[in-house]
Amino acid sequence: MKRLLILGGTGEAVELANAVARRCGDRIRILSSLAGRTRKPRPMAGELRVGGFGGATGLAGYLREMRIDFVIDATHPFAARISANARRACDAAGVPRLMLVRPPWVSRAKDRWIVVPDTAAAVRRLPRLGRRAFVALGSGGRAAFDGLKDVVLIFRVAEARDPLPLPGREVIVARGPFRMADEVRLLNQWRVDVVVSRNSGGAATYAKIAAARELAIPVIMIERPPSEPGCGATNVEEAVEWILRELD
Ligand code: NAP
Repeated sequence: MKRLLILGGTGEAVELANAVARRCGDRIRILSSLAGRTRKPRPMAGELRVGGFGGATGLAGYLREMRIDFVIDATHPFAARISANARRACDAAGVPRLMLVRPPWVSRAKDRWIVVPDTAAAVRRLPRLGRRAFVALGSGGRAAFDGLKDVVLIFRVAEARDPLPLPGREVIVARGPFRMADEVRLLNQWRVDVVVSRNSGGAATYAKIAAARELAIPVIMIERPPSEPGCGATNVEEAVEWILRELD
């Protein structure tokens, strides 16, 4: 039986594990890996391991020890370090690797996007664009805003962690997928006049972008880090097809 390692942490990684289990049956053993950021991971087909590998060298060791035949990197497009480690580890261990990367969002008519290269640039632009910002970057992106004054920051995170004691900071705990009507209500309720978002792509978190368009609110859109070179799929179906071809 061949062994597939899915590097996860996204909805697509869960869908992929389930789809591979359905389509490939007992021809393949599925191992999914999570960094350990969420306390309650969504259930998925196959086995789950949690925690870092110890860099590219640690991951290469894991691939050899577990006799992994294929790796699918289905991590978030902003999780650049694990993807770089996966490329180096797979090269070192001679394991075929596929990246499952959802396409980025593209600006439409009436969108008011200000595209910036990274979070630091978003923080610099923010005070000139609004006074009440909805910041949907996950828990990891919050620290970059620490020095920012005179802007009320409304963060949304998937899980309640440490409370934010600072005045002018609010935290909404909610996990996607989100609906546009709810996002419009949220932006109105919190009197948001600017949104800060990563260009994550996908349907689950797009509603805030559509809601901002509807309300003519500017969006500071943080571009993705460069993608790792290598074989790529843009959706779960393409990734399953890749595995089926590799199994033949
Ligand atoms: P990162 O900066 O690329 O990775 C940091 C370290 O976390 C890696 O070096 C690795 O540790 C460990 N790691 C990351 N993903 C892992 C995985 N799937 N399995 C085992 N170890 C993993 O990643 P991040 O931005 O902190 O994201 C962490 C996880 O959250 C990823 O799985 C990602 O898919 C998910 N996520 C990230 C975002 C985001 O905006 N960045 C959004 C949604 C979900 P070692 O070097 O010790 O192996």
